[in-house]
Amino acid sequence: MSPAAERRLQPRDDIKALDGYHSPQVDVRVRLNTNESPYPPPPEFVTRYVAALQDVDWHRYPDRGARDLRAALGAFLGQPSERLLCANGSNEVLQTLLLTYGGSGRRALLFEPTYALHAQIARTTATEVVSGERGPGYAIDADAAAELMRATRPSVVFVCSPNNPTGTVEPRETVERLLSVASEIGALLVVDEAYGEFAPWSALELISDDRPLVVVRTYSKVWSLASVRLGFAVAPEWVIADLEKVLLPYTLSVPTQIAGIVALDFRREMEARVAGLVEERGRLFAALADLPGLTAVPSGANFVLVRVDGDAHDLWERLLEQGVLVRDFSSWPRVEGCLRITVGTPMENDAFLTALSAVLPEVVV
Ligand code: PMP
Repeated sequence: MSPAAERRLQPRDDIKALDGYHSPQVDVRVRLNTNESPYPPPPEFVTRYVAALQDVDWHRYPDRGARDLRAALGAFLGQPSERLLCANGSNEVLQTLLLTYGGSGRRALLFEPTYALHAQIARTTATEVVSGERGPGYAIDADAAAELMRATRPSVVFVCSPNNPTGTVEPRETVERLLSVASEIGALLVVDEAYGEFAPWSALELISDDRPLVVVRTYSKVWSLASVRLGFAVAPEWVIADLEKVLLPYTLSVPTQIAGIVALDFRREMEARVAGLVEERGRLFAALADLPGLTAVPSGANFVLVRVDGDAHDLWERLLEQGVLVRDFSSWPRVEGCLRITVGTPMENDAFLTALSAVLPEVVV
């Protein structure tokens, strides 16, 4: 190394040890790898959004409190706007939570396998990660989880439901149980519901000012607005007041705030997209279950995890050669040999199934 390179500032040791986020962005015919909506928002949304942009005071900072957006979202959810925090994607919400309640000397508990960013953001905020194990079928064992919470005293407990990458939906009893332990030990339970609209129930029902519960949601999936980067937390007022101290001022651009408001006027279209994707999920699951050498995991989200009886990475590559990109989890601990398929349009799902049928015999042992 040159002397100049040796003098270069290095990141903290714990940051140096991180891998970063890897999900290849490849331009292919069929993209079923990042759980976005396969459908754009309706044309009328774009027309209304572009019209609303005509009135923006471009030279002025946005409303720091995103008051109009929070009022509209609060009305949509049946929650007071004081219980809402909006940020640039739910990832920024999660980061704000950990900047506020995590940090040096504090712990975040999560249940693996789960969304990688929970551990990643915990680490970047110098929060110690405690990994619990999921039980059979990838559900959280509530007794074991309660015990782990009491033993390790985390500040923040993450429950991803439906869980990424398994699609597992936690039953209400599990969330209620963990919530009561969180109250007992003075922790915060964060239920990541990035895929909540695809599931049969939501922890939003449990939000109240005297429960330490945060539900995190996003516009990236069901609202077809992954490009905009907008996510939100629903939480007791005292949590929101804490988070607001940490969120960067003016972090949410005016165009983002407007997109979030206008989108809510297209609820019927959103619900129709969700219903269509849930139906396609059923079709995809049944087709996968029928193929030899594959085991599909039941999913309450817009994706299906499938275990391959053979070289899953090889299968991933062969699908890519056929122009179909899915997510490769083959080398991930606890989901070894698995691929995750985002539910696409019926045509995309057919293209995936056709490609799969063509290459699967070459891979399955
Ligand atoms: N939580 C989970 C479980 C996710 O899968 C994702 C997206 N991959 C996110 C949060 C982040 O979504 P966004 O930042 O786009 O809102």
